[in-house]
Amino acid sequence: MRTYKYKIRNHKKNKRFGNLLDDLCDVHNHFLRLEKRYYRRYEKYAGRYRLQPHLTKLLKTTKKHWAWIPRDTLDAAIIRIDAAYQRFFAGQGGLPKFKRKYRYRSAKFQTGYKLENGRVCISFKSWNDTTQSLKFNRRWFSFHQHRDWHGTVRYVQILRDSAGEYWLYIVTDDTSTEPMQQTGESVGIDFGLKTFLTLSIGEKIQAPEFLKQSLKHLRKLNKAVSRKVKGSNNWYRAIRELARHYIKIANQRLDWQWKLATDLCRRFDTIAAETLNLNGMKRLWGRKVSDLGFYQFIQLLAFKCFKHHKVFFQVGQWTPTTKPCSNCGDKNDTLSLNDRQWTCSQCNSEHDRDINAAINILRAAYDPVVEQM
Ligand SMILES: [Zn+2]
Repeated sequence: MRTYKYKIRNHKKNKRFGNLLDDLCDVHNHFLRLEKRYYRRYEKYAGRYRLQPHLTKLLKTTKKHWAWIPRDTLDAAIIRIDAAYQRFFAGQGGLPKFKRKYRYRSAKFQTGYKLENGRVCISFKSWNDTTQSLKFNRRWFSFHQHRDWHGTVRYVQILRDSAGEYWLYIVTDDTSTEPMQQTGESVGIDFGLKTFLTLSIGEKIQAPEFLKQSLKHLRKLNKAVSRKVKGSNNWYRAIRELARHYIKIANQRLDWQWKLATDLCRRFDTIAAETLNLNGMKRLWGRKVSDLGFYQFIQLLAFKCFKHHKVFFQVGQWTPTTKPCSNCGDKNDTLSLNDRQWTCSQCNSEHDRDINAAINILRAAYDPVVEQM
């Protein structure tokens, strides 16, 4: 599955998407409330096959105002709750939460859409007074098609970002690849707070700290928000401005990470990384972890390696990579977090903490013995 992202051109009629997402938020909260009540009574959750017939009933009785939304879009909101509960009971996530209107971000269309060059058509329904029935109402929205999508389209999504802009996501089954030239080189990479990436060949790659650079500007925008009357038009304008700046920072980081991943794929055939323990890292390093975006980078790198026919390894979370000497394998138990450089007591080799870890990560990908140490 691949997702292609396009900007929907600003237009007055985009308001319809706003209404759509607001109504879907109601649907989400309504069915979540129902789930919670069901759970209190029967100590199990109601799956989608119980909820969907209930929705059919609601659409004819108390929730007629939801009927203008395509049925599969409504169903998708319910399926999302169902999936969240399944993940929760499998121990893979938290319980779904009630949402505020502006936090509800996406709507999925599996059938009621049509794609054309730079345009998408969504069929909503509207009540016809003369025939006393719902009739289809097709609406076209144009989007900026800056690139073509490949593969068969599975579904599309409409997204609202925090700055109030709308995006079209086209999800296809495309799995095509673009092989890159083989180089015969492999590398281990170690993530760090001071240095974003350390390569086992001794190279250090610093992250440009976009957030730090624009902190001053963010502070200014924050101040502007606090000066406005909450809920006023000016306040909303200032909030959107702030959101837009955060989005810009995220885009800059993403762009830099794509380029870095491409560069690594070009230079190496095999790339080994550690498995991230994000909660542990947050405890150790604080909020800066999310600013650096390690997790996003790992996902991106894995995709890039797949696309360019390179091998991507992740060594197990419990593989010791910091303490063993990469030269003789002796474990340095006295190593503390602040030791950036150390000397092995057995073989006297000098180590840079991060480079040593990166070498161990690369070795663990090839050699299962290290993993058992
Ligand atoms: Zn040693």
